[in-house]
Parts: sequence; structure tokens; C-alpha cells
Amino acid sequence: MSCDFKALATPGVQGLHPYLPGKPVEELERELGISDIVKLASNENPRGPGVQVRQAVSNVVTELSRYPDSNGFELKRALSRKFDIAENCITLGNGSNDVLDLLGRTFIRSGDEVIYSEYGFLVYALVTQAMEANAVVTPAKAYGHDLDAMAAAITERTRMIFIANPNNPTGTWLGEAELRAFLDKVPSHIIVVLDEAYTEYVALEDFPDGLNLLAEYPNLVVTRTFSKAYGLAAMRVGFAVANDAITDLLNRIRQPFNVNAIALAAAVAALNDDAYLAESVRLNSEGMVQLEQGLEKLGLEWIPSAGNFLTVDMQQDAGPLYQALLHEGVIVRPVANYGLPNHLRISIGLPNENQRCLDALAKVLSA
Ligand SMILES: *Cc1c(COP(=O)(O)O)cnc(C)c1O
Repeated sequence: MSCDFKALATPGVQGLHPYLPGKPVEELERELGISDIVKLASNENPRGPGVQVRQAVSNVVTELSRYPDSNGFELKRALSRKFDIAENCITLGNGSNDVLDLLGRTFIRSGDEVIYSEYGFLVYALVTQAMEANAVVTPAKAYGHDLDAMAAAITERTRMIFIANPNNPTGTWLGEAELRAFLDKVPSHIIVVLDEAYTEYVALEDFPDGLNLLAEYPNLVVTRTFSKAYGLAAMRVGFAVANDAITDLLNRIRQPFNVNAIALAAAVAALNDDAYLAESVRLNSEGMVQLEQGLEKLGLEWIPSAGNFLTVDMQQDAGPLYQALLHEGVIVRPVANYGLPNHLRISIGLPNENQRCLDALAKVLSA
């Protein structure tokens, strides 16, 4: 008789629900036998990698039989220079999700409480569950983080607090004053993880740069990624910045070669390509306006967003609309698993992709 392997798993793993990624283009091609598909489902940079990244990737191919630099010296040096942070405050990850996982495994004990917001990024829930901690999910305020509610939720058992700024999947953001007021209230033994995956897109007044807060708040950890504005989602590179003591711990639990050699080289090249980043941000702002104007014509409302996506209220169960859009060759992201069954999250694409999406929306809404 076969063994009940599920019963062998840790309680944390038994209770996990796998992350639901955006549907890959190739999968939809296989399923529906269609081509010319537009994917606006995973908040990726629609431009493809820049020329310097392509060159760096091809240069490193001759080195693939060697292990990568476990310490990521070149990338840390480049990050240190660009952001004026010490190298011993940087932890590299296989995407920033890796770093979020490392934070959980480093600090969260079974039975601890972890606070995050309703409509918060699902990885926070996964990390919390995997560590057998208790999730304390505070109700959102206008779809965003309610920092007063989060502060009020702190107890003696609170170990970690996750905040995304801007937040995914809602695009909502927090200003510097309110974030500081919150951080002032958090006892210094509670780790606050500030996930800044979309920060490069934001050009708002009073928008905080978490890296500038680290000196004042030793319990703060800022995470960033190369997956969005830097255009390297497939490479899987992210990083955490925190004080040297926290960084030392994260580097103990980190797999020695968690970031591969191609990813390291690509990230250095991307970091040095200011023009690519600036153009990505510009395209995003324009695309956001294009999408907003089109949605308005369709009579739809959306959550104001500081990211590279809009989460749109479809005013009905969005599931069938998501399916209908797939048949039009447009992949967006259902967010029912975030508690938003009537919304669809649409990543900002290239101008023609945004138009394809708007046309497909018009068609499926009138059907
Ligand atoms: C996309 C995203 C990330 C980045 O994940 P990677 O593992 O770096 O690709 C992190 N946090 C949030 C909130 C995101 O939306």
C-alpha cells in the first residue's frame, strides 16, 4: 500500500495553496491553437531586454561550465554604487520572491503572527503559511494598506509585517509621511518588509524611497526586483537591503548559488542602462493614460495605480470575461484569488498591445 505522503509533510506545507501565475503565452497557444497573443498578465516589462543586457548574456555563455560567483560581487558592487548602500547590506535572491522566502525562513517561527493587508501580494501569505505562522490580515482601506489597522494589529506575538509600496494587485501606494508614522509605531524587534517591486515607476510627490529609511529603522528590510522596470523577469534576480546583522542571517540560509551567472551578468548590465529604465518608465506612463482613456470610454472604473498595471472593476463576475478575452488572444490576470472576483488586473503593454486589449474588452463586454 502506498504511503500517505501528504501526512508526512510539515503542517505548513500541507496547508499551502500553490501560487497561480499568469497564463503563459505558449500554454494559451497550445490550448486554443491561436497565435498573435498579447500577454498583459504578469506586470512584465513589455519591451524585451535592452541591447546591453543581450550583449552581457551572450558574453557569459562561455563561462557556463563554472559555478557563478556565490557572493555576486559585481552585482553587489554595482548596486552599492548606484544606490549608495554598503555591500554587506545587500542580499541577492532568485527574484525578490526568493528574498521574501529567506526572510520568512530566517525570522518566522511556528505560532508567530505575521501581519499583511487584505489584497496584499500572495507570496506573503505563502511564506507565512509555510512557516506555520498565523496570518493577521488587516482589512484594506480604499483597496490599499490601512496602516492604522496594521499598527493596531501588532501583538506580543507579531514577528513580521509585509508592506508592498506600490501594492500588487491593487496599484495603491503609501506616502512617506504615513509610512514613517507607521514605522515609528512598530517595536524594533518586529521585522518590517517593505516590498518595492514597482518603485521605479513612481514619480509622485511624497513617495518614500525605502532605502533612505533604513538608517533610521534598523528593523526595516527593503526588497527590490529586476523583474519589472528593469525588464528581466525571466532571469530571476531580486535583492534585499537591510542592516548588516539581518543581511548576515539572510546570507546564512541563502543557497550558495541562488542567483545564476547569466542572471548576475544581465542584472549588472540592466543596472547600468539608465536609458532603458527611463524609456520603460516613460512608456508605462503613456500606456497607463492610453489604457485609462480607453477604459473610460468603455464605462469602466479602475483602482488608481502607481505601478505598471491597472486593476479594473468589471462590475460583474470577471471570470467569464477573462475566459472570453483568452479567446480574443488577450491574457490578463483574474484576481478572484485575492478576494477581487469582479476585477481584472491588466498590465500596461506596448501601445498596440494596450489597444488590442481595449478592443478585445469592448468586444467581450458587448457580447
Ligand atoms: C512582481 C512582484 C515581485 C517580484 O517578484 P520577483 O520574484 O522579483 O520576480 C515582488 N513583489 C511584488 C508585490 C510583485 O508584484
